[in-house]
Order: sequence, then structure tokens, then C-alpha cells
Amino acid sequence: MKTHTTIYHSADEILEYDRSHIWHPYASMENPQPVLPVMSTAGTRITLADGRELVDGVSSWWTAIHGYNHPVLLEAARAQLEIMPHVMFGGITHKPAVELASLLVDISPEPLSKVFFCDSGSVAVEVAIKMAIQFHHARGLRGKNKLLTLRSGYHGDTFHAMSVSDPEEGMHSMFREILPEQYFADAPRCGFDCPWEERDIASFRNLIREHHGSIAAAILEPVVQAAGGMRFYSPVYVRRVRELCDQHDVLLILDEIATGFGRTGKLFACEHAGVSPDIMCLGKALTGGVMSLAAVLTTEKIAGAISAGSPGLFMHGPTFMAHPMACAVAAASTRLLMTMPLEEIIRNIEDKLRSGLEPCRGLSRVTDVRALGDIGVVEVDGPVDQAELTRRFIERGVWVRPFGNVIYLIPPYIINDTDLAHLTGAVVEVVKRGDI
Ligand SMILES: *Cc1c(COP(=O)(O)O)cnc(C)c1O
Repeated sequence: MKTHTTIYHSADEILEYDRSHIWHPYASMENPQPVLPVMSTAGTRITLADGRELVDGVSSWWTAIHGYNHPVLLEAARAQLEIMPHVMFGGITHKPAVELASLLVDISPEPLSKVFFCDSGSVAVEVAIKMAIQFHHARGLRGKNKLLTLRSGYHGDTFHAMSVSDPEEGMHSMFREILPEQYFADAPRCGFDCPWEERDIASFRNLIREHHGSIAAAILEPVVQAAGGMRFYSPVYVRRVRELCDQHDVLLILDEIATGFGRTGKLFACEHAGVSPDIMCLGKALTGGVMSLAAVLTTEKIAGAISAGSPGLFMHGPTFMAHPMACAVAAASTRLLMTMPLEEIIRNIEDKLRSGLEPCRGLSRVTDVRALGDIGVVEVDGPVDQAELTRRFIERGVWVRPFGNVIYLIPPYIINDTDLAHLTGAVVEVVKRGDI
């Protein structure tokens, strides 16, 4: 019997305790998929307990844009740790929060100017939805409390976030009966570069025309539906959504949690469409992958209406709101990003992803090969064997974690051409061998 004084030294001890006591994301406690004990990280590398190094092809779930242990981010964390690791945000403010808010207001599309900090992407989505509903409520439009969204989307794991994630393919269909019912438009079909066809927006247009009286906001991931299958779609779709929302007194929430901070080749994906949302959610890469932090930005108009209505307060306030260390690291990460020739760096990664993955086209089971910004995708004709594929990738010295029917790469922006070629080469080999 281990006691509370036990210290887990060896990789085997860690694994054994983990297997019997700790949940992993979307995991079984009875029949767990294998997990890898990791000892350390640096740059593009994850070092395993047995000393092997893997090139990270997914930036720790799309967060570590500057790679791991970047000295600028570590220094920001260290400095803030010494000064003040955390303090409550009720009735108190601090420099890291103010600096980060002013950076986000500066770099985000106008007229976003009011910032709400929370801890995770899912909570940011909850906050955004509450803002939209409170906005209409404050104007006396209590019936406007539903959301309009797109099939194949993903917005998080909390209840309202689940309710706007894809109802069929999503990870939450078993909760359907207790989730609030929302309106789902067909997923966009026009690809990112494809000629726009007006009928692509028909389903969305019909829903908003018919139901705008009960719709508070439309919520979507602009240009890339990420966890719903790395689907790239036409910026014109986003532009049409903006126009239709304006025509029907419906707010537009853009969930840039996956696409923000350069991922699609622009600082924010909505820039491809030249569109600005009423409410924008940020998370994932916000702190460069160092800490958990998310933010919701909105406009003077919406913040003003909420504050002028009853009860005159925005009804949300997490315990760890605006965590000073997270804010300090996020400010350092954002500043670092702004000093980089971002579009040039991402264009180079996009070119290398596209050409590196191209040999997959025409291979057995492959239905599409595509790249946009920092995202490279090989799509296949059905679900892949994630555990088997992960094993094959580890054998080749890379950390790649496919899901559904996509094998994708989202490398850190600091990756060099050699590591990038290693990643794309590993994907090509694994797909070629038919291990999928
Ligand atoms: C990951 C993600 C979320 C949820 O963020 P968490 O931090 O995992 O709660 C929401 N929306 C999008 C688009 C995401 O990619």
C-alpha cells in the first residue's frame, strides 16, 4: 500500500499510479490507452522518460507557438512568480492584467475594446454566450437567448459550449437530451481558396431569417473548423455571416481559440474575411502554451448595454480571474509574436507543409491533402486508429496525434526546415505503409 509520503521516482511507478488513478482527456479508466511519461521539453522537443526525443508536431494541442521553454516566456513567468504569483481580481487590479489587456485591444480588430479574462477556452465560450444573452436581456429582448452555429464546429466541453458543438460527430452526443437546443446551419462547403458559391450560405441564411427573434448570437470558428476536422472554408462565408447578423439584430461571436495568434497566416483568422466580431474568444496559444488562460473581447456598445441594463453587472467572475503569472506570460508571448515577421514565417511553414505532405495524395485511403497557415492536414476516408498511429509516429521520433479522419500537423512557429521535413516525412511514411 502506497502512502501519502510515497515519492514516485521511476517512469514505471509514475505510469502505474497514473493508470489506476488519473483521468486523461476523453479516456477510459478501465481500458486506458497508453500514455507516455514525459520528463522535459525544450524548443520543438519533448523528452521521454527513457531519454528519447520527439519532435512535437502538434504544439501541445496548438498552444506552444514559440516552442517549449522559450527564454522570454520563462523569464516573464519567473519574474512574476517572485513579485506576486496570484492575487484575487475582485476589487483589485495589477500590471500584468492591464498590460495584457492593452496589448489584446491593440492587436485585435476594431472596435473590440473590453476584455474579460478567464481560465480556459470552454469558459471563454460560456462567457461570450452569457454576454450575448445579457446584451439582449438588458435591451428588454428576453426572447433572444438561442445560438446559431455551424455543423462540424467545436467550442469546448462545458454545457453551453457542448450545445453549440457538432451534434452528431461531436464528442457530446450522449448529453443531447439535457443540452439547450440550438440552431445548426450546414457546415460550409466552399474551401478556403474555392470560388464562392452563394448557395453555401443558404442554410445559415434561412435559419437566421426564420428564427432571429429567438437568436442572441451566431457563434463560429472563422475560416477553420479545427477540432471538428480541420476544415478550411471560404472567408466569404464569414463575411456573409457578418452581414446577415447585422441585418437581423444577431450578435456575432467569433471563436478564435484555435485560429488566433497567427495560426491561419493572419494574426486572427477573421482578418482573411475583413470582418470584426461583436465578441471574440481567445485561448490556446494566448500564453504560448505555458499556462492556462483565455480572454473574451467585446465592444463598447455591448459592454455599455450590459452595464446599463438590469442588474447592471456582467454576471461572471472566476476565482483565478486574470491570473498574474498567466497574464505576464501571455503579454510576453504576444509581444514576442509582434516582433516576429509573422506572416512570412507562417507562409514558409505553409509552403513546407503543403509540399511535404503532398506525396500522400493518391495514397490508399487518402481523400484530401491541404495546408493553411501553420496547419497541414491529410484527410482519410474514415476514422484512424489513433493508438496504433501514435505508436508508429513515436517510432519515427515525432509526436503527432491524429483524431477522427484527420492526421494533422500544427508545428511551433520556431520550427526549422529540418524538423519540419522530419514531421512531414514521418506522416508520409506512416500513410504510405498503410498503418492508418
Ligand atoms: C480548444 C477549443 C475550445 C476549448 O478550449 P479549452 O481550453 O479546451 O476549454 C473552444 N473553442 C475552440 C475553437 C477550440 O479549439
